[in-house]
Amino acid sequence: MRRTIPALSLAVLVLAFGLWPASPAAQQAQTSLAIRGVTLIDGTGRAPVTDVTVVVEGARITQVTTQPVTLPPGTQVIDGRGQFLMPGLIDVHTHLRGGGNRASDAPITPEQERNGVRALHTFLYAGVTTIFDAGNQGSFIFALREKAKAGGIVSPRILATGGTVTSPGGHGGPFYVESWPQDRAVLDKHLTGKPDMVKIGQDEHGWGTRPLITQLPEDLLEQIIRYYHSKGVRSTIHISNEHNAIEAIYAGVDTLAHPVIQSPISTGFINLMRAKRVPMASTLTIGESYSRIAEHPEFLDQPLYRDTMEAAEIERLKTVESPRQRTDPWAQWMKIMTPICQNNIKRLNDAGKDIIALGTDRSAGADVHRELELIVGGGVSPADAIVIATRNSARFLGLLDEIGTIEPGKIADLVLLKADPTKDINNAKQIATVVRNGAVVDRGKLDLPVNRR
Ligand SMILES: [Zn+2]
Repeated sequence: MRRTIPALSLAVLVLAFGLWPASPAAQQAQTSLAIRGVTLIDGTGRAPVTDVTVVVEGARITQVTTQPVTLPPGTQVIDGRGQFLMPGLIDVHTHLRGGGNRASDAPITPEQERNGVRALHTFLYAGVTTIFDAGNQGSFIFALREKAKAGGIVSPRILATGGTVTSPGGHGGPFYVESWPQDRAVLDKHLTGKPDMVKIGQDEHGWGTRPLITQLPEDLLEQIIRYYHSKGVRSTIHISNEHNAIEAIYAGVDTLAHPVIQSPISTGFINLMRAKRVPMASTLTIGESYSRIAEHPEFLDQPLYRDTMEAAEIERLKTVESPRQRTDPWAQWMKIMTPICQNNIKRLNDAGKDIIALGTDRSAGADVHRELELIVGGGVSPADAIVIATRNSARFLGLLDEIGTIEPGKIADLVLLKADPTKDINNAKQIATVVRNGAVVDRGKLDLPVNRR
């Protein structure tokens, strides 16, 4: 069915680089894993294929085949018969809980690290293997990113922007740019944290219940994006209306951190996006979360929330936050705009199947599943929603060569499900096993309420 790398040539390749088996430690590192007899949903949008074997050696997928395979000795075999394998989910817009003041350079505290790790574990538990943090205290999120990279914490892959860039008085911060080239020093300070992408805040507000604020002039926006490009750093931008989205696209932005939510999108905008194919994060969950808490707090009783959220937090949301949101005009406004935004996302997905990526603007794995529900609720098929949450999200992050689909050569970030998510997107919650970087995640050891009962 598709290209496979024969085991022999892989061995030759590995021997040529002198990596096998150099030492007992190296031998241990080169573990292999096979999932046999599974129905494969590979993230590319191709129809599911039954009775597939996926072989993983080290961190990478080496074979995806319907043919009989000879496995390396010592391979850990998972019987995938009756189950469904999809790529690890990716959230391209999070703000990890636990960080403090975005302007702070203070080193991460043990308490911040514990809270951050707990939030990270909610993602892994829910099958989310990569996140992009689109705005946080730099010293907090970059420290966690480095620890995750070094294997010091069990975590999804973390990409992060740290603080965000905007005009003084604009949306976000604390990197404020007003004049060029004088304020390049502000961006240089941001760059010292080695952001994976820059997040720019561009919004005049003034819609719904919010007062007007300042935003970056078009020429300055272009200078900022060009400057990051000259340093090899891609960009994303907070926008909420079509005008700002178009201006950002012509200023050279790489991705949009939100969909257009202020109004139905025009045919002209759809045509522009069809031509430019600028990845756009879905972020329906943040806007819908307020009225959902107000009107349907019972959703917190679902297993995924009870397993991953502290009981005291669930109680606070039900008894304090729910009544508060019932009288909040912003909650009502976002309730009105969410169906419009869902329809905008459906129309853009119809125009180009690689445009929409999954983002929640939240901080937990359960929210990623809510985002899938809301995408499907807007008329996108469950099969497309999985492509959005995997391949398209990898494309958003510039990582499509490495993650996002189940193909030979890709990093093995995988989710094994007990039911078919292309039939019902709720089946994406029926998680049997999560594989991150080629290793099975021990979900029973994650620092979560489900494991403390
Ligand atoms: Zn955000």
